[in-house]
Amino acid sequence: MGSVYDERPWLALYEDDIPRELVCEFDDVLGLFAATRRRCPDRVAITYFDGRLTYRELDELSDALAHHLVEQGVQRGDRVALYLQNVPQFALALLAGWKAGAIVVPLNPMYRSHELTRILDDARPVAVVSSETGWHDVLGVLARQAGVRIALTTSELDMQTRHDPRLFADLRRRPADDCSDLLEVARAHLGRTPPEITVSGDDIALLVYTSGTSGVPKGATNTHRNIAFNSEGFRARTRDKDGAGIFGLAPLFHITGMVCQLGAAIALGGRLDLVYRFHPGVVLDALAEHRPAYMIGPSTAYMALMNHPDVTADHFASLDLVYSGGAPLPSAVVDSFRERFGHYIHNGYGLTETTATATSVPAHLEAPVDEASGTLSVGLPTFNTVLRIVDDQGEDLPVGEVGEIVIEGPMVVPAYWNKPAETRAGIRDGRLHTGDVGFMDAQGWFYVVDRKKDMINASGYKVWPREVEDVLYGHPAVREVAVVGVPDSYRGETVKAYVSLRDGRTVEPAELVEFCKRRLAAYKYPRSVEVLDDLPKTATGKILRRRLRDEAARTAQEG
Ligand code: AMP
Repeated sequence: MGSVYDERPWLALYEDDIPRELVCEFDDVLGLFAATRRRCPDRVAITYFDGRLTYRELDELSDALAHHLVEQGVQRGDRVALYLQNVPQFALALLAGWKAGAIVVPLNPMYRSHELTRILDDARPVAVVSSETGWHDVLGVLARQAGVRIALTTSELDMQTRHDPRLFADLRRRPADDCSDLLEVARAHLGRTPPEITVSGDDIALLVYTSGTSGVPKGATNTHRNIAFNSEGFRARTRDKDGAGIFGLAPLFHITGMVCQLGAAIALGGRLDLVYRFHPGVVLDALAEHRPAYMIGPSTAYMALMNHPDVTADHFASLDLVYSGGAPLPSAVVDSFRERFGHYIHNGYGLTETTATATSVPAHLEAPVDEASGTLSVGLPTFNTVLRIVDDQGEDLPVGEVGEIVIEGPMVVPAYWNKPAETRAGIRDGRLHTGDVGFMDAQGWFYVVDRKKDMINASGYKVWPREVEDVLYGHPAVREVAVVGVPDSYRGETVKAYVSLRDGRTVEPAELVEFCKRRLAAYKYPRSVEVLDDLPKTATGKILRRRLRDEAARTAQEG
């Protein structure tokens, strides 16, 4: 007999004019793109400051680029890595990679040598597309060492003439001798098309590296069907607002940016407004200029916008729907945003492994707040999706009981790249064991209350303690280390390291911070390091991370 989750109580809360089940017209995102291109070729697909690309241009330039990639030897299933901020070239390279039959591997442009080396070793890309800055600073040497054969670079200053000094003051064009320029290549091949390839919904479209539920960085294999489904899901949830503008608040290298922004824009035949990277003042100006209808980003982005001295309700006046996802959303933020700007922020929850959205608060509803904990609900499961709350044996728990959240639906990735053991542990029979802890109420609203995993969530950026610990273990003075998250009123959490030192060694905490800073993305290095004589351990010698976490929280509160 099925449990309460099989009865899907949340369906009763769906809007009347929205289907209970979503039937997608397209099984792959290239099919979706081709249909939009046929339907509205001259609509603007992307804005970037004063630069613009129509669907026709996006199609023709990505065809030309795909032709080049195939000519250079890229074959079906090869990996093409992108090391780019929110620039239009991201969309061009993504589509070109797919049109060439490749699997695209987005790399967080904040990643430094430690993270990049691990991903390049695992994904083994044949081609990379990088910003000029990123190529010179770090990727160039690593990509050559990793045997990358094809390298294209591009500048964040291209595709626009108005260079905002708040973002680009220090940037100069720095073409590399050993690479081709992406836009020059695309323009030189204009009019050429890659050989026709047939993409199936089951083909892997992306490898998105995430620490997932067990901490080892691994590639989630988001398929073409996963992406097409959640892109179309966005269209259905927003009542098919054809041609609407979406603001690119979330980074494109993250699954939310790729699917809920770019994929959603393609599904709607809409416009995606990009601003290179998040800067509250720049975002406010761009909102005023482009007047988008939708916006999605982590709660910390809304907090930063709210705290900007120039913000007014007019900046958000064009918005129809505002979404938050990727990190806990405090209900105080929702209340204050509505009070000041007249918009309710709709919460949503998902993981890289669910190709972004797995639950969301429907447009016509507001999420309840759990009275006991004050936690705002993350919403209802989206189309064709079942969430369950299970115990340690994997058995369904009754309504209201707290357990692990398990997700099954057409957006759950089939596997992790090259990691059969991790796949067996995390994704069994199409069910993703999220490592998040929560419960469902009687109406079918879900709440995330904790994490089983040790992951730290700093402004929506996930930090896996083990990765930071690995770096610190590389320091000659360090004997033992434990990294924990510390509550932070702005970022949600920040990173703190506790270390003990080898006999006879001394080191200043600031030196250890600097040591990490040189090797890790800016959001990952510890903001503080505390040296202890010994780290607390269990009887079996395991470091008591939880005790350190509590200790760090107490110190932070007192401070
Ligand atoms: P990522 O794979 O980077 O998208 O991270 C997924 C993780 O972010 C989830 O496992 C949750 O721990 C967290 N997360 C995502 N959305 C929410 C939300 N609305 N509320 C609380 N935590 C969230």
